[in-house]
Amino acid sequence: MDKHSNTKTAIVIGAGVSGLAMGIRLAIKGYSVQIWEQNSFVGGKLSEHWEQGYRFDAGPSLFTLPELLEELLELAGHSELMPELIRLDPICRYFWNDGTRFDAPANPHDFANLAADAFRVSSHSVQKQLERSNEIYGISAPVFLYRSMHRLSTYFNSDFLKGLVKIQRLDVLKTMHDVHRKRLKSAKLVQLFDRYATYNGSNPYKAPATLQAIPSLEYFKGAWLPKEGMIAITNALEQAAVRLGVHIVLNRSATGIRHKNKQVAAVEWSGGTESAHIVVSAIDVQRFYPLLSPAVTLPERIKTAERSTSALVFNWGMKSSYPELDVHNIFFADDYKAEFQALGIPGNGIGIDPTIYLFISSKHIQTDAPMGCENWFTMVNAPGIGALTEDQIDLARTHIAQKLSSILGKDVLNDVQAEWVLQPADIARRTGSPDGALYGPSSNSAWSAFNRHANASSSIKGLYFTGGSVHPGGGIPLCLLSARIASEQIQNAK
Ligand SMILES: Cc1cc2nc3c(=O)[nH]c(=O)nc-3n(C[C@H](O)[C@H](O)[C@H](O)COP(=O)(O)OP(=O)(O)OC[C@H]3O[C@@H](n4cnc5c(N)ncnc54)[C@H](O)[C@@H]3O)c2cc1C
Repeated sequence: MDKHSNTKTAIVIGAGVSGLAMGIRLAIKGYSVQIWEQNSFVGGKLSEHWEQGYRFDAGPSLFTLPELLEELLELAGHSELMPELIRLDPICRYFWNDGTRFDAPANPHDFANLAADAFRVSSHSVQKQLERSNEIYGISAPVFLYRSMHRLSTYFNSDFLKGLVKIQRLDVLKTMHDVHRKRLKSAKLVQLFDRYATYNGSNPYKAPATLQAIPSLEYFKGAWLPKEGMIAITNALEQAAVRLGVHIVLNRSATGIRHKNKQVAAVEWSGGTESAHIVVSAIDVQRFYPLLSPAVTLPERIKTAERSTSALVFNWGMKSSYPELDVHNIFFADDYKAEFQALGIPGNGIGIDPTIYLFISSKHIQTDAPMGCENWFTMVNAPGIGALTEDQIDLARTHIAQKLSSILGKDVLNDVQAEWVLQPADIARRTGSPDGALYGPSSNSAWSAFNRHANASSSIKGLYFTGGSVHPGGGIPLCLLSARIASEQIQNAK
């Protein structure tokens, strides 16, 4: 970078969703921006993989709050890059081992009526729970998601004060499961609502009931799939960044950060050092801190925070199609609690009856699989502690196939034509996420939101943080928000 020009320079480390979003925001501010990415491809967790004619989105499969992407692309002056989206209805097809099936409609009123019939509960109680979810989102999002939690101004803001008045409505001190059990009565419906804790890699038996807010995103705001697959989100961000002059440097791993007089100065890689006025870590904070000198260490409460769950994914190219399956399918375990307890035990493999999430984008995107075939993204929660052994993976494949075959009435393994496996160690290697955690730290405690790393360094000027491991948390929308908050802080620091 040209040290003599007046242009301010920025280096963003990591080209996942938040790194690309941050690159765009810095370029809009007039910075000369480089994004360094260790891989030969951009997107991080939101990337894709082709296997023998089948396309698989390698990470996320559900897109919520698309307006955050729309807002960013509009700000970049490239609204035309916004991917075309399909609004999912039903949102998900649920299966239980006893033969029960339930298609979750996108409309909350229809959901309540159908759930009442399917689970023999009153539609009023279900409707009320959905409205509660929406109310909690309305109270908590402006405070916990859209602003920095590390600035005094947040706490003197009218949204915060309004939230404070209604704090008991947030059920912070109860667990999600306890609240659902009390209000919903049917064990299957409780399991369906508990599952939303996994949307940020948390455990419904530990996570605060504030996470009841998550279903409101789907039923009140919509669940979406880009017409060209989830990868279209990464592609749109990458194209917007490039059109704004951001230089994306692939195959470059940041190996150190230099700082002087409490001001960030440069980033090191194996081939040299590049100076920068601003450095943004868009990688996991646990991975980033070792790049700083030993004098600056990760706060203990963040270092020891419980990680979100990881996953074992069998991406299967299936040689036939299954009309009884939808785009998103869940096959629940009989003992959900035992499944979560087992996830916390080091060395554990996948249980004999896991909850299986099956995403088939080829139901909507025909080019994702050969004619008459389907691309199955078959995922189970996995402990993020250490790699799974080959034997554990083989056993998991057998158990998953047995469960699916028994419910679908067909030997599914017979149809597997291509396979690409992603296990926690692969996710860790591909994305730099310690333990292969999907969403950074979990939200398993009432204090999780307060314990996430801030979006700006309190000790080194010019150093900022985005991505799933920092405030406001993991998932595509929150990663986009982390870039928005960090960008506001850069603005305020001027
Ligand atoms: C299996 C799976 C399913 C998921 N499902 C969903 C879903 O349905 N919906 C949803 O919203 N979210 C989902 N998520 C979560 C979502 O994908 C993440 O929260 C989000 O993509 C994380 O983005 P990020 O910006 O934090 O960066 P990441 O995607 O973590 O990318 C970080 C990038 O930094 C690079 N990097 C690391 N270290 C260095 C270094 N030293 N130098 C240079 N580059 C480096 C990595 O290679 C990587 O490309 C899922 C995640 C996974 C893995």
